[in-house]
Amino acid sequence: MDIDQRTEKVALVTGGNRGLGFECCLQLAGMGCHVFLAARTLTSAREAAENIHGGAITPMELDVTSHTSVSAAATALAALVPRLDILINNAGIYPEKDDQTTELSAATLSLALETNVVGVHRVIQECLPLLKAAPAARIVNVSSGLGSFAYCAEPSGDFAGYIGTGYGTSKAALNMLTATWAKAFAGTPIKVNAVSPGWCRTDMGGSEAPRSPAQGAAALLKYAFLDGEGPNGRFLGEDGEIPW
Ligand code: NAP
Repeated sequence: MDIDQRTEKVALVTGGNRGLGFECCLQLAGMGCHVFLAARTLTSAREAAENIHGGAITPMELDVTSHTSVSAAATALAALVPRLDILINNAGIYPEKDDQTTELSAATLSLALETNVVGVHRVIQECLPLLKAAPAARIVNVSSGLGSFAYCAEPSGDFAGYIGTGYGTSKAALNMLTATWAKAFAGTPIKVNAVSPGWCRTDMGGSEAPRSPAQGAAALLKYAFLDGEGPNGRFLGEDGEIPW
């Protein structure tokens, strides 16, 4: 498949079938990108892609917890396009019983880490040849203020009362993973940042959240189009730096 002549950039969004991932796909398609909408099943990717009218959208199966699935997706991608300009590592879970540290099972904690941290590492690794083939690839690792030590672990922090062992631990780890990948990309044009969309109305965020999915996605995509002077290896939100 040739890249559509109308498109400028090739983008891959994990967990693109609903919530913030879907909104990212919608907005990226509207900007003229060729969007690979990845979801755990091809059926859910196809169904979501059908709801985006206009733009170049290719549904794709990608379960971030499966090495086989991620590897197959990267191979399929490489057969279709010569490079990957934008990678939005959006897929994520909020573990059950996360407000009950003593009740949270080790298996549930493992799944949160596997999905929210190891999955991101796996996707970056498998997409590396395509990312390197782009003139200046941008990676957005979708993080959360609930992964901030300053907000959650400091008594004076904004979320000092938050108890989310699995989610907070996984997003804090994702932040460090991001910082270390940025070091690995030193000397290359690739930039990677951990970005919080803010609290948004999705299945995960719930209906009480103050921000729309569109606002959350826009905050994420702000860092998908950074120029060469933009930040690398930072923890960011809509308004800039978030304290680690
Ligand atoms: P959501 O509505 O629950 O959507 C989560 C997405 O991740 C779904 O597409 C889901 O696919 C996918 N996913 C889960 N496990 C996966 C796996 N193993 N492989 C591939 N895809 C998988 O959540 P959301 O609010 O849009 O959240 C998206 C990202 O933003 C997450 O990383 C979340 O932590 C982060 N975030 C959200 C908020 C918020 O307020 N909403 C705030 C800060 C950060 P299925 O449909 O197959 O389950």
